[in-house]
Amino acid sequence: MSIPMNYDENFPKITSHAKEYGFVFPSSEIYDGLGAVYDYGQMGVELKNNIKTAWWKAMVQMHENIVGLDAAILMHPTTWKASGHVDAFNDPLIDNKDSKKRYRADVLIEEHIAKYEAKAVKDADKKARKEGWATGDEAYQGFLVNSRNGRKAAELQARYEAVLNGENMLQGLYDFIVEEGIADPESGSKNWSEVKQFNLMFKTQLGATAGSALDLYLRPETAQGIFVNYLNVQKTGRQKLPFGIAQIGKAFRNEIVARQFIFRMREFEQMEMQYFIKPGTQMEWFEYWKAARSKWHQALGLKPEYLQFHTHEKLAHYADAAEDIQFRFPFGFKELEGIHSRTDFDLGNHEEYSGKKLRYFDPETQESYVPYVLETSVGLDRTFLAHLSNAYTEEEVPNAKGGTDTRVVMKFHPLLAPIKAAIFPIVKKDGLPEVARKLFDELKYDFPVDYEEKDTIGRRYRRHDAIGTPYCIAVDHDTLQDQAVTIRDRDTMEQVRLPLTEVSTYIKRKLDWREVLG
Ligand code: ATP
Repeated sequence: MSIPMNYDENFPKITSHAKEYGFVFPSSEIYDGLGAVYDYGQMGVELKNNIKTAWWKAMVQMHENIVGLDAAILMHPTTWKASGHVDAFNDPLIDNKDSKKRYRADVLIEEHIAKYEAKAVKDADKKARKEGWATGDEAYQGFLVNSRNGRKAAELQARYEAVLNGENMLQGLYDFIVEEGIADPESGSKNWSEVKQFNLMFKTQLGATAGSALDLYLRPETAQGIFVNYLNVQKTGRQKLPFGIAQIGKAFRNEIVARQFIFRMREFEQMEMQYFIKPGTQMEWFEYWKAARSKWHQALGLKPEYLQFHTHEKLAHYADAAEDIQFRFPFGFKELEGIHSRTDFDLGNHEEYSGKKLRYFDPETQESYVPYVLETSVGLDRTFLAHLSNAYTEEEVPNAKGGTDTRVVMKFHPLLAPIKAAIFPIVKKDGLPEVARKLFDELKYDFPVDYEEKDTIGRRYRRHDAIGTPYCIAVDHDTLQDQAVTIRDRDTMEQVRLPLTEVSTYIKRKLDWREVLG
C-alpha cells in the first residue's frame, strides 16, 4: 500500500473538519485567537483522553516495573541550568529586514533542500512513466540519485550537515542562506539579518513583590519532573533497575515559527517515560522501546505505510543515540515521537547542581552508580493530529434516490472514537423515543453514547460518520414487537439486528484493549 494520491490535499479539509465538528478550536477565538495555541472541543477532549488512556495502559498498567507521576509545571529554576535548557535550548532565528518576518534559519534551509528533493522525485516519476519503471526499481532509484536535482539535493544536504556540526554554526547558516539565494517564503525578499540563537523557554515569576520574586520558566518538557523525583519514586516504590516513570503533562515552548495547526504549538502535551537502566545496557533497551512504541502506534490503527524511523543526524546535548518515529502527515513525514538514550546526563547534572546523590545501589554487584536513562517521548497533540489525518476518509456511498453521495467518515479505532454508539429512534413518535432513551440510559454507564432524534436518519448517520462513531443503533417500529434493534457499522455500513438485551455485550466485545495492548 502507498500514500493515497490526494492525501496531501486533505490538510485544509482536516483542519476545517476538526473545527466544524468540535475537535479543535483556535484559542480565545473571539479575540482573533492566539498564535499556535488551541483549545480542544467536545469531541477533541474525548479523543485526547482516549489517546492518554491507551498510552497509560500500555506503559504503566502493562508493566510491573513502570509507575506514573504527575509533577508540577513550575520547577526550581536551577533544574533548567542543570538540564542544559538555559544554555542550549535554542533555535537559530533569522529576521527578514523588509517583511519583518521571523524564521528558523535551519527550517528555511531544510525546506530549500526539500524543494530539490521534490523536483528530483518529479523528474524520476516522469522518466518512470516513459520507461515503464516502478518506483522501487533500481533504474528508478539510480535516476533519482544521479539526476541534476538529486545530486544538488545531496550536495546541499552534506553541506548543511557540515554547518550543523561546524564550529561557527550561526555564521554557517547565514552564509548558506545568502549563498543559496534563499528568499523570504512570503515576500520574496533576500534582505536578511544575521542568525541569532533564541531560547524557547517562557519566563514567569514566582512571588508578588518585584524585589523578592524568583524568575521561573514554564517547563519545556515533562522529563525533568521525572528526573528530580527519581530517588523519591525509587525509594518509596522500592524499585529495582530497570524501572520506569511515566508522565503525561503540559509543556511550553515559545516556538519561532508555529505553523501546521496542532503539529507545532506553544502550549502542548507530552507523554514521556524515562526508563532507568544499568549503564552499558542502553542499546538493548533502545531497540526494545523502538519496537514497542512503533507497535503501539500501529495497534491503534496508524497505517504502517504512514510510519517510519528516522535517525538523528545531530544528537541533542544529552543523547548517545536518538531516533524518531515519524508519521506521514499530509505535509510530509515528520517527528511524532522521540526515542532517546540520554545516558547519565540528566541525573549526573542534577547531582552536581543540587549536591544530592541520585544513585542506585546495585545489590548484585554491590556497586553504587548513576543509572542511565532510555526515554520515549511522544507528543499527545501530534498523536491526535496523526489520528485525524489517518482517519479522515471521503467515500462515495449509495443514497436513497439510487445515486451516490460523498460521505466524510473518521475511521478512528473504536477505542479512540469520542462517542462509541449513537441511538436513533427512526421517528419522534409512537413510543420509539421512550425505548431509545431507555437503551441510552442503560449504555451510558459503560460508554460515552449519544441520543439523537432530530433530522432524517440519513443525516444522523452522516453526522456520526463525521465524528467517527463506530456504531449507530436504530430503534424502529419492529422494535416494539421483537425487542430488537439494528446496529450499523461505521466502516462497512453493514447492519445487524440484535435483541436489546445484547447490545451492551456486542459493543463491549468490539472495544477490546487486548487487541491494542497484547
Ligand atoms: P521538533 O524537532 O519537531 O521541534 P523536538 O525534537 O524538539 O521536536 P522533543 O523535544 O523530542 O521534540 O519532544 C518530544 C515530542 O514532543 C515530539 O516528538 C513531539 O511529538 C512533541 N512536541 C515537541 N514540540 C512540540 C510542539 N511545539 N508542539 C506540539 N508537540 C511538540
